[in-house]
Amino acid sequence: MARYTGPVCKLCRREGAKLLLKGERCFNAKCGMEPNKRPYPPGQHQQQRRRKVSEFGTQLREKQKAKHIYGLLERQFRKVFAVADRRSGATGENLLQLLETRLDNVVFRLGFADSRRQARQLVRHGHFAVNGRATDIPSFQVKPGDVIAVREGSRKLELLKDSVEAVGNKALPSWLSIDPASMSGRALAAPSRADIDASLNEQLIVEYYSR
Ligand code: SF4
Repeated sequence: MARYTGPVCKLCRREGAKLLLKGERCFNAKCGMEPNKRPYPPGQHQQQRRRKVSEFGTQLREKQKAKHIYGLLERQFRKVFAVADRRSGATGENLLQLLETRLDNVVFRLGFADSRRQARQLVRHGHFAVNGRATDIPSFQVKPGDVIAVREGSRKLELLKDSVEAVGNKALPSWLSIDPASMSGRALAAPSRADIDASLNEQLIVEYYSR
């Protein structure tokens, strides 16, 4: 499945927010959103430009922000929205829940990767199994009760070993549990709205697609 391969700090500057797309770098002085860098939108005259953002513009930016955070392209994101819309309940919350339970996001949330991008690559390279079955599809939907484990042959991978050692330093959402000894994690429940990125306003995304 296609993915965005361009510069990512530019996306944060475009949205005017830290989207945390680069792992550790996002938390040090090298971050492109630091005041000593260029924390204004990309483009030659953007630094001087002051523009009133329309209602549509606000909705569009919110949708773009969610897309970039979860690393999806427009067509993929639209498909997820269509599924969320068909489900019962609030479409916005359904959308965030579907995004949050993607396998690449769960691998990231469990702390096996520094960023969702890295998690996606690890999944694509076949380092994970869900309920004992090798799964290399980043969009795979993790359900409550599922066990996500590093595959036997990948347990010696330095990157994964280091991540597991650092697991204690990372915040784990309440809907997930991890067992560092067996390099595996479990989805205890479906994520609630409180477990998902609070900076996203899902209602604006729903309004964008309901125009
Ligand atoms: Fe965004 Fe991370 Fe780049 Fe900072 S370092 S601009 S948070 S991707």
